[in-house]
Amino acid sequence: MIQQHALIEKVRSYDPTLDEDKFNRAYLFSMKVHGEQVRASGDPYFSHPLEVAGILSDMKLDGATIMTALLHDTVEDTGATLEEIRKLFGDEIAGLVNGVTKLTQIELQSSQTKQAENLRKLVLAMSNDIRVLLVKLADRLHNMRTLHHVSSEDKRRRIARETIEIYAPLAERIGMHHIKDELEDLSFKILNPDARESIVTRLNFLEREGGDIVKKIIKELKSVFKNSNLKAEVSGRVKTPYSIWRKMHRKNVAIEQLSDIMAFRILVNTIPDCYQALGIIHSSYIVVPSRFKDYISTPKPNNYQSLHTSVIGPLKHRIEIQIRTHEMHTISEYGVAAHWQYKQGKNTDHKQYHWLRSLLEILEHAAGPEEFLEHTKLEMFQDQVFCFTPAGDLISLPRGATPIDFGYAIHSAVGNHCVGAKINGRMVPLRTVLHNGDQVEITTSKSQTPSPTWERFVVTGKARAHIRRFIRTQQRAQFIELGRSILQKSFHHENLEFSEKFLETILAKFKCQTVDDLFSILGEGQHTSYEIIRAAYPDFRAKNPIDLQPIVSKAKFIPKEKDAIVSIRGLIPGMAVHYAKCCHPLPGDKIVGIVMTGTGVTIHTYDCENLNNYANEPERWIDVAWDSHNEQKHYLARTNVFVNNQPGALANLTTIISKHNANIANLKISHRGDTFFEFIIDIEVKDADHLSNIIASLRASSLVISVDRVKH
Ligand code: MN
Repeated sequence: MIQQHALIEKVRSYDPTLDEDKFNRAYLFSMKVHGEQVRASGDPYFSHPLEVAGILSDMKLDGATIMTALLHDTVEDTGATLEEIRKLFGDEIAGLVNGVTKLTQIELQSSQTKQAENLRKLVLAMSNDIRVLLVKLADRLHNMRTLHHVSSEDKRRRIARETIEIYAPLAERIGMHHIKDELEDLSFKILNPDARESIVTRLNFLEREGGDIVKKIIKELKSVFKNSNLKAEVSGRVKTPYSIWRKMHRKNVAIEQLSDIMAFRILVNTIPDCYQALGIIHSSYIVVPSRFKDYISTPKPNNYQSLHTSVIGPLKHRIEIQIRTHEMHTISEYGVAAHWQYKQGKNTDHKQYHWLRSLLEILEHAAGPEEFLEHTKLEMFQDQVFCFTPAGDLISLPRGATPIDFGYAIHSAVGNHCVGAKINGRMVPLRTVLHNGDQVEITTSKSQTPSPTWERFVVTGKARAHIRRFIRTQQRAQFIELGRSILQKSFHHENLEFSEKFLETILAKFKCQTVDDLFSILGEGQHTSYEIIRAAYPDFRAKNPIDLQPIVSKAKFIPKEKDAIVSIRGLIPGMAVHYAKCCHPLPGDKIVGIVMTGTGVTIHTYDCENLNNYANEPERWIDVAWDSHNEQKHYLARTNVFVNNQPGALANLTTIISKHNANIANLKISHRGDTFFEFIIDIEVKDADHLSNIIASLRASSLVISVDRVKH
């Protein structure tokens, strides 16, 4: 294991800006807080962050990354807090440690294979700083190297599967082939030990048969280049058992038939040297047709560059050769991390890293190369959020999505019947914006239907389409009902017999298919009932010309409720008045009256959300206002109150309300949480001012979290 001093020297050798004092403090802090903790291997726990730091220092990553590696498990696994880290080591390191901690927290939430691609995206989206991902990959690499110490086979297999499905592809995506290979092979060893064993045995057998072929081939290739006077480094290796196994699967061939069990690599200084080396190989050996690929002139999407060719090489072995410059090689092995190495000393040409633009948001925000890595952000999935269902399924949604969108993404019935949502176990309003990694639980009720207000905050097309469709259907049902009752009244008024059968004979005149269509256009106000009567009875003469007005705006109503008549201006005398149960209007509130066929007028507050239902029927709106109000009368106001779950909280609440000479008419606990209670409290008050005073006093109490008047 690398020691404190050696690690410092190593980092300082490539990052001269290293703050040694801070580094030493980070080292000692981590060692202290991990204290007596031990790993499954029996080693002190601290050996793990130290090894992770060592892996990252091999990649020559900056001091902040190495310190983050030392501290990466302190918040998750010890009593240390993020605030402590921030105070001791500053914002940059605290931000990185926080990123790694969050990744650790979400990584085991989903165990489902089909979710792998989404989980990879989630990890990328949560790695705001590329260094977070690099620390996480090094962390995973060390955990995989020591996984055999974990005694539970289930746990070993789960971690290995996650590594091969999530982390190895991520390492590949950011171009770190070197780490990808090792992660894959370590996972393979756990997941399919028999297959791996048989490949290793076969490889050993082949080696015994032919001696160390790799060494022999390297030797011959070296002499070929020496004779041509081209400076070239030749290396070769047998490919990893996992990559051989996968190729055998894909090509469905036996191991001996694979031409590229062995990979040889020729590293040269410049691009012209690459093509010269290719010429030397092709003139020395027989070329296998159509295996040549030029990834230098046409790089792969992750900017992998190399020349690939296959030849019948030394000892008549069919081999694959990759030719590239040293720099291309570093990028291919270390990917993003390679940039750090090239940034030191060498004159960095940003065009060289142009490919990073697709992966990282770079120079737009960075003032110069120093800021390059600090400001790199993975932007690939920044426009998406990924949230878990309680079962661990991962749902991908556009940024800004709410629990309603989440519900519709699961199933349209879940969206349609959504009544509430919990995020990470806490009840939240339905308009809450979801964040990456949130676990979302939707509560449904068969009697719940989509609300028009949802449309204002949903962001997915699916949610919006379902809500609109529902509202259209619902509106139509209301129009049909309204149209039917208007027409029945008009027929009755004129002493005509009302018959739906008879109405069918005039459908064509109104371009309607069904009687319901006819009621609907009448309800919408496109036609009056007398137009329909005249269509049915061409000789009809109305008893009273005034009746030719649409009946609905005439508002002939029977008084039903004895209270309230006196206190509202703007109403036709004798008209029945109801106070809306949705918004509970109080004297002093701005109000609006809505004519309800057959039942009178309902008073809403002017900002009541239910008024949207009548937006297209201006003829039903009546301008009303409170008259001088009656001191003796009390009105019901509904409030939503959150209080701390503490002894005395409820008593405190009722005391405040009674001090204001108000009466609690009804009190209901709508949510009982560990830390808070949510109440719906109906209070009898004189007017809006009276209520405002009570709400202000409640808000002043230390036990009360929030109080709001409910108007929907
Ligand atoms: Mn760790």
